[in-house]
Amino acid sequence: MTDRAPHVVERRLPTEESRQLVALVRDIAQREISPGAAEEEEAGRFPREVFTLLSDSGLLGLPYDSAYGGGDQPYEVYLQVLEELAAARLTVGLGVSVHSLACHAVAGYGTKEQRTEHLPAMLGGGLLGAYCLSEPAAGSDAASLRTKAARDGDDWVITGTKAWITHGGVADFYTVLARTGVEGARGITAFLVPGDAEGLEAAAPEKKMGMKGSPTAQLNFDGVRVSDARRIGEEGQGFAIALSALDSGRLGIAACAIGVAQAALNEAVGYAAGRQQFGRPIADFQGLRFMLADMATQIEAGRALYLEAARLRDEDKPFSRQAAMAKLFCTDTAMRVTVDAVQVLGGYGYTLDFPVERLMREAKVLQIVEGTNQIQRMVIARHLAGPETR
Ligand SMILES: Cc1cc2nc3c(=O)[nH]c(=O)nc-3n(C[C@H](O)[C@H](O)[C@H](O)COP(=O)(O)OP(=O)(O)OC[C@H]3O[C@@H](n4cnc5c(N)ncnc54)[C@H](O)[C@@H]3O)c2cc1C
Repeated sequence: MTDRAPHVVERRLPTEESRQLVALVRDIAQREISPGAAEEEEAGRFPREVFTLLSDSGLLGLPYDSAYGGGDQPYEVYLQVLEELAAARLTVGLGVSVHSLACHAVAGYGTKEQRTEHLPAMLGGGLLGAYCLSEPAAGSDAASLRTKAARDGDDWVITGTKAWITHGGVADFYTVLARTGVEGARGITAFLVPGDAEGLEAAAPEKKMGMKGSPTAQLNFDGVRVSDARRIGEEGQGFAIALSALDSGRLGIAACAIGVAQAALNEAVGYAAGRQQFGRPIADFQGLRFMLADMATQIEAGRALYLEAARLRDEDKPFSRQAAMAKLFCTDTAMRVTVDAVQVLGGYGYTLDFPVERLMREAKVLQIVEGTNQIQRMVIARHLAGPETR
């Protein structure tokens, strides 16, 4: 196995503090995350100790308020940190993004008491989160979810099955969307459920094409009881909370996708410089030079797109359309670039001896999670042409 080529990107960061932060992350990525990635992914080992290290280093709550243990970083900085982590190992970059998604409800919609009670442990106290929206029969049409939360005195009793949950079975807390009222989007409420709640069980992790180190599991809620103090936001506000979390989460996926694509490009450039055919490095051939140039151009365009959306978010401006565009473009870019990287390496690219085949398998999932790219196009089209008429 070769170690992944160093990930060197010249970044435009807003402050000296953020430059130091990204340098720290690169150092952690090179020392603690990248080594062993290939073997651990192949073995399906979840690197929990890396998340503990990131929490101890203040990297699990970067975009959140420091009053509650967060890092007070603008989204444009947080996303570039995610990109660095994903370039080293997608399981880690995506895991941090999902954790952040799971914190969104309490941080954005929780009462002061809820934020004070829960956030410090979530943002920097070593806890790891998961976000539970999808169900076996409710994927793209998430508003049709059927997991039910029924009132019982001061408690809620949650019953149903969530599917495809990243960190399912290993998370310390779950942000759960459940039906408390009418059919459709208006009958859904958000809850914060502890990982060790009675009646909550995770199935064996799914056997996946890639990201094998990141457990993805069904969760069964068999009469899980939580107090009303763990209801986040108003009754019926859950779907709006879930969508708001996804707007931000999609930017995380976009940044992870650019990290994966950049890692694949670095591998391809390094390999093309060293591999000789016809008595010259293959990097001499225009057919490959143009391919590398197109890969680099798409990556930079994707990075510019996600950063533009992040800067809008940082300025409290609407960014939902740009987030959907960034998720769509960056993840399609990751897919194209990683396929091309395999091509640049020829037969060696198709083996487990080089990381590009893994990067290609990892890129695929990014076109699916947090709203498939078909759903992103629907979101973008609604901004252009209004809601569909039926
Ligand atoms: C590795 C992994 C991790 C995940 N992690 C999480 C998680 O942590 N939390 C969570 O809640 N979910 C998670 N998911 C679930 C993910 O968000 C869903 O897989 C995704 O939303 C798609 O739902 P589905 O798989 O049911 O596909 P479906 O909705 O059944 O879609 C199947 C196909 O039909 C297309 N399609 C559906 N509706 C339309 C339409 N109206 N127009 C055009 N095309 C359409 C889709 O684009 C897709 O190509 C994860 C999934 C994976 C694979």
